[in-house]
Amino acid sequence: MPKPVVDADLCTGCTLCVDVAPNTFEMNDDGVSVVIDPEGDDQDAIQEAIDTCPVEAITWE
Ligand code: SF4
Repeated sequence: MPKPVVDADLCTGCTLCVDVAPNTFEMNDDGVSVVIDPEGDDQDAIQEAIDTCPVEAITWE
């Protein structure tokens, strides 16, 4: 299974990915999105989060 990865250097902290896939992504104390469970949401929801990210900080690995 591919896993989503957030590039912390690109993330602007907009929280959109957390809104779309809240069981996969969480904002950390630095205001950056982190993956808390790579299979927390179904793949379509994670793909939507990837597509929603305005700075393309999330990729499949
Ligand atoms: S959508 Fe992109 S920029 Fe926004 S919090 Fe998620 S990873 Fe960061």
